[in-house]
Amino acid sequence: MEERKIAIALPVTGEEEWLAVKEPLMSGWITQGPKVAQFEKQFAELHGANYALAVTSCTTGLHLALAAMGVGPGDEVIVPAFTWIATANVVLYCGATPVFVDVSRDTFNMDPEQIAAKVTAKTKAIIPVHLFGLCADMDAIRAAIPDHVKVLEDAACAAGALYKTSYAGTLGDAASFSFHPRKSITTGEGGMVTTNDGELAELMDQMRNHGATMSEEQRHHGPKPYVLPDFNLLGFNYRMTDLQGAVGLVQLPKLESFILERAKWAKFYRKQLCDIEWLRLPQEPKNGTHGWQSFVTYVDPQTAPMSRNKIMELLQEKGVSTRPGTHAVHMLRLYKDKYDISENDFPGARDCNNYTMAIPLHNRMTEEDYQYVVTNIRELG
Ligand SMILES: *Cc1c(COP(=O)(O)O)cnc(C)c1O
Repeated sequence: MEERKIAIALPVTGEEEWLAVKEPLMSGWITQGPKVAQFEKQFAELHGANYALAVTSCTTGLHLALAAMGVGPGDEVIVPAFTWIATANVVLYCGATPVFVDVSRDTFNMDPEQIAAKVTAKTKAIIPVHLFGLCADMDAIRAAIPDHVKVLEDAACAAGALYKTSYAGTLGDAASFSFHPRKSITTGEGGMVTTNDGELAELMDQMRNHGATMSEEQRHHGPKPYVLPDFNLLGFNYRMTDLQGAVGLVQLPKLESFILERAKWAKFYRKQLCDIEWLRLPQEPKNGTHGWQSFVTYVDPQTAPMSRNKIMELLQEKGVSTRPGTHAVHMLRLYKDKYDISENDFPGARDCNNYTMAIPLHNRMTEEDYQYVVTNIRELG
């Protein structure tokens, strides 16, 4: 078989994105402006959210939302133990305490049955993660917490994913999406916060621009050149550039076709790999649609012909890139040391950390590429 090199992920960017950045560059308005405003409007419409606010990343979006929800020192925020580190870091940014809850080895998402035991009088918010594009069980999560606890979706991987008939981004009090190149659509770096809460949207809008009481556009296009905004609260500079907004406007209409194509190849993988006993394939939503940010398998240590890491090494030698799904955050030094946690405190997250394996699934792969991945996995035994 002819040798191939298949990346774990590769964004679909090209001529259209290249041309899109020309307009802001020529006009000279390159910070948050009309392109970002249009991108926000279309993103909100597509997901059925009342408000969308573009930010510099999903991470800063999560921080912005927590800050606007009033999360601060003394508060606790419940987060899954298996996720990208940013989900927990944003809680620390607020001076609050992340409280880990274990995840299911089947869905890789927060296990709703373990949430109630984590709720205390200090619990201010919970961050369910829709990991790899599969929405967390939001009904069960909402039912497990008191009404006053805010729900912030980490929707980094879940653009275009459905929970029942509602899109990710409309399932809690607020949500944050990522446009990092590893995600379904990209603006280089970038993120989007969505909410249906008008007051929260207004506050986040102010806080992403240093807490200014007036937007840059209002200031520059208004009739009173001497007017500077007032600052009545502590904000940040989390504004997206119009260069990114212009790219986002070109990427967003492609989201649906990207997901449909990924879903088609996910189905192909399932068909071709379902009889391999030691390789568990990712769960699909019972009611909804997967966002297919990545295709994450679970190598069963009991039945696999060799260790997951050895499998990953052999596939790498054949030119097939793989990656662990993501981290068990409680096993990372920062958190392990800070809170004196043992890796066995969250056995689901520990196992997902050790046994998950993402295989290539992106919109620049050909049929031959997918066949090549399958053949090399099957040859492992
Ligand atoms: C990628 C990712 C993030 C961070 O997104 P950035 O845009 O890079 O900040 C946060 N949470 C999860 C679950 C992610 O996969």
